[in-house]
Amino acid sequence: MTVKYPEVWDLDVLFPGGSESQELRVHMDETGPKLEEFEKLSAKFEVPTKAEDARNVAEVLEAVKETMLHLRQSGAFIGCLMAQDTEDKKASLLQSESSSQSARFSSALQKIQQDLTRTDDEVWNALMEDDTLKEFNFVLNEWRDKARLLLSEKEENLITALSMDGYHGWSQLYDMLVGEIKIKITVDGQEKTMSVGQANNLSSHSDAGVRKESYEKLENAWAEKEDFFAKTLNSIAGFRLETYKKRGWDNPLQEPLQINRMKQQTLDAMWGAISKNKQPFVDYLNQKAQLLGKDGLEWYDVDAPVTESTQTFSYQEGAEFILEHFKKFGPELEKFSRTAFEKGWIEAEDRPNKSPGGFCTGLPMTEESRIFMTYSGSMSNVATLAHELGHAFHSHALRPVHQINRSYAMNVAETASTFAEMIVADAAVKNASSDEEKIALLEDKIQRSVAFFMNIHSRFLFETRFYEERKKGVVPASRLNELMEQAQIEGFGGGLKSTHPHFWASKLHFYITYVPFYNFPYTFGYLFSLSVYAKALEEGAGFEEKYMALLRDTAVMTAEDLALKHLGEDITQEAFWEKGIALCVKDAQEFISLTSSAD
Ligand SMILES: [Zn+2]
Repeated sequence: MTVKYPEVWDLDVLFPGGSESQELRVHMDETGPKLEEFEKLSAKFEVPTKAEDARNVAEVLEAVKETMLHLRQSGAFIGCLMAQDTEDKKASLLQSESSSQSARFSSALQKIQQDLTRTDDEVWNALMEDDTLKEFNFVLNEWRDKARLLLSEKEENLITALSMDGYHGWSQLYDMLVGEIKIKITVDGQEKTMSVGQANNLSSHSDAGVRKESYEKLENAWAEKEDFFAKTLNSIAGFRLETYKKRGWDNPLQEPLQINRMKQQTLDAMWGAISKNKQPFVDYLNQKAQLLGKDGLEWYDVDAPVTESTQTFSYQEGAEFILEHFKKFGPELEKFSRTAFEKGWIEAEDRPNKSPGGFCTGLPMTEESRIFMTYSGSMSNVATLAHELGHAFHSHALRPVHQINRSYAMNVAETASTFAEMIVADAAVKNASSDEEKIALLEDKIQRSVAFFMNIHSRFLFETRFYEERKKGVVPASRLNELMEQAQIEGFGGGLKSTHPHFWASKLHFYITYVPFYNFPYTFGYLFSLSVYAKALEEGAGFEEKYMALLRDTAVMTAEDLALKHLGEDITQEAFWEKGIALCVKDAQEFISLTSSAD
């Protein structure tokens, strides 16, 4: 008998009644007094002066954990409500309430962090030696190291206060500017008015004319407002650089590297290895151009489908496919995922009013996860489902770990998800029912390499060069276009016939003020995860225990130490990165050979 897995998630088991839930109301109301208590504790907390203060610190950390768990439980639940029904007004009210609760928590926590960092060295060392705090050494030292690179508390507070209007405000203005843009495009003989997001989605449309038209109209729209976007980008970068200068930081990469707990040397080794291995992907781009009947690939044809995968899977079949292949890599991954399917942790139904995209969120108090996506039966949906299950498995692996030690950075955040997705994507290629099908699935995989090794590389090159020029003064739109085109030519290894000069205006990631350099961590995560996957292929199901140990350590060591301890690899060397790239090169070569013999 086949078990039927529910396609709609079970949220009622968490808080019954959706956004009208009484239980949720009670939980949110309890948060108020809990926060007050935490704020009092924070105000009372003093700079440790003796080794015996370790106990106070440990107590405070427990309070941080308790408050965090409580806030995250409701925060994650409300996020699920918002995603499952974008029209749920009550949920959006609850969300504002929840964010202001989180903001109160953050500032009380910040005060504690600042007090801790003022501890003198001798006392600090004694604290770190204390048994109650040993477990938290990495995180506590990181708080201290970060704070030491900052200006005085008073000055930093002033910067934070001014950044609301003077920095983050520019990012919000960007969203407004983009929201205003409407594009008129003819699709299937009908003229449609579209938002930027909708027009962007046409980049993978099967009709070449539609792809070209949407690209050109978008490029025109960006060009028309280029001075506004240039002003916005220059202001964001200017604020950031001025802050760095005041803190005495010369390298704009210092902060993003610190956030991702990695060395510049590691970043250089990664891009170095990628730069040396562009040719197989350039060959792929050329092959693709030929298949599309062109003598070179245009920017707007990069995402074009060469052939479409027609194989479809019912949700039940997709779930079984995932479980069958997960099993080969580890009994725990399979068992965990089966539970997620059976217990209704996944929202997959194709219905209106759901928000686009997919995510996985953790409910720490009940130690559960929820996965959100819209499943319509394609192999790529199956891969997305596996991806999100990978995220959930990461949280599962972290369960024995203290809440304070679970905050992993963006560069390792995608390790478990990409790993799970790879298992399924590889199995799909192997199980393809025809050459046609195999080509479509392979291309899906190669497109990721093109995105991570070429497109994101060009974003990184652009951003570093722009920051260098911005140090000397405002960079006008015309120069931004030039920098972007140069970066694209280099990033794509000269493999494209045309560029997208206003890409710098079109990409939201350049305008995110909360995370600087929102690009290289993606490439890092992809390649890092590929090398974990390569190890798993070597070692089979026995690798799982080591794999889970690696996941448990993702938030308590640097990226370099993590790779050394669990993979025995030195990621500051190009040789490490080349191994992951080699797996992707194989896909590109197979694609070329399959499509060459096809005709
Ligand atoms: Zn992900």
